[in-house]
Amino acid sequence: MLPGRPSEHFTWAELGDPPRSHAQDTRHLAEHLERLRDICGGRPLSPLSGYRSPGRNAQVGGARRSQHLEGRAADLPAGYATVAQAERAGFTGIGSSGRWAVHVDVREGPPARWEYL
Ligand SMILES: [Zn+2]
Repeated sequence: MLPGRPSEHFTWAELGDPPRSHAQDTRHLAEHLERLRDICGGRPLSPLSGYRSPGRNAQVGGARRSQHLEGRAADLPAGYATVAQAERAGFTGIGSSGRWAVHVDVREGPPARWEYL
């Protein structure tokens, strides 16, 4: 486990316990999660998933080039934040279920939006 916390309200464990090589990306992700938490009135947020090792990603059927492998993605409980709120928090990748943002990431390159059916 890395020392300290990636940001004030999040722990390394709840962001997938990334290795040192992915600490910086996970901190960047956590900064955006803090912004989202603020936008949502400071309501406690427990991400469902963060960094995934390649083995873990395969186990859960994640995309082969998933941002979770980079420590740049988190999955959120439906009902926490809307897509519009995730956009305001600066996430560049947003997967939605109805009006809710359920995957957010800080990918580099062109923004991406998709819906889980
Ligand atoms: Zn995800």
